[in-house]
Amino acid sequence: AKSRGSNAWCFFHEDMTQAARERLELEARLRRALDQGHMRLYYQPQIDLQTGRLMGAEALLRWLDPEEGLISPARFIPVAESSGVIGPLGLWVLGEACRQGQQWRTAGLPDLTIAVNVSLHQFLLTDLVGATNQVLAESCFPAEFLELEITESALAEKPEDALAVLTRLRELGLRLAIDDFGTGYSSLAHLKRFPLDLLKIDQGFIRDIPHSADDMTISSSVIALGHAMGLKVLAEGVETREQLAFLQEKGCDYFQGYLCSRPVPAEDFTRLLEKARDG
Ligand code: C2E
Ligand code: CA
Ligand code: CA
Ligand code: CA
Repeated sequence: AKSRGSNAWCFFHEDMTQAARERLELEARLRRALDQGHMRLYYQPQIDLQTGRLMGAEALLRWLDPEEGLISPARFIPVAESSGVIGPLGLWVLGEACRQGQQWRTAGLPDLTIAVNVSLHQFLLTDLVGATNQVLAESCFPAEFLELEITESALAEKPEDALAVLTRLRELGLRLAIDDFGTGYSSLAHLKRFPLDLLKIDQGFIRDIPHSADDMTISSSVIALGHAMGLKVLAEGVETREQLAFLQEKGCDYFQGYLCSRPVPAEDFTRLLEKARDG
């Protein structure tokens, strides 16, 4: 029994080192991918629910690996966060989004808000305010067209620091969105305390509309709550006409989702903008 126990520990130990090795490998590959220009931003349209107008785009990160193809952010963002690669990676995302946004502006395409995801670690561990200020200056992209999406957990972790950072970001003139709303905790306290502009209802609450009476109640309550707090409300993950009709009826301001478009490369998004311009 004793030797079996020690063998079990051995296997466990080997599993752990195997996992740790794969993690280190992924981390090194991630750094190389960033250096070698293998990162891309895809853009997903954000649509005004009442007018149908294309009003914004969320920038979503993709890793285009020469061998593996497209790697989803769900796989590498956690590694980027725990390893610190999120610092330079997040800075690249911010810079690239602003450069692209400015390119669309100078091409005479319709005005567009560009929304950029900011992770918890990037938010609390790097000089986000200084970096954002510099990126805006270098790209000439007007701050009023930049929106930063921050998750509830980032605000819950260190509320005092978060409040200070958000206040200074807001002073730069950009907009702030709370992402994945409803999936974190102490949501109402956040809404009240932080200088926010937009609330994004998590797609988990949209998915089962119109089949889930609970989700319909939650979504319409969040819309009313957001509005009562002076915020705009965007629904994520809208895939069906029924969901769209429901949200329209409840007075939701904006939506994003496969019903309109999946996230697409910048070149494809340019075509969407040209279509919007030409009517
Ligand atoms: P998120 O910010 O909540 O982004 C929304 C996710 O939902 C995206 O997944 C998007 O492609 C997907 N989505 C959009 N419409 C629909 C729909 O109608 N149905 C369904 N089922 N899904 C839809 P994606 O692009 O794989 O990104 C996953 C997550 O990775 C993001 O969730 C975000 O948390 C993170 N992420 C992406 N880009 C960045 C980035 O540049 N920086 C950071 N820190 N995180 C990022
Ligand atoms: Ca987001
Ligand atoms: Ca989200
Ligand atoms: Ca999410």
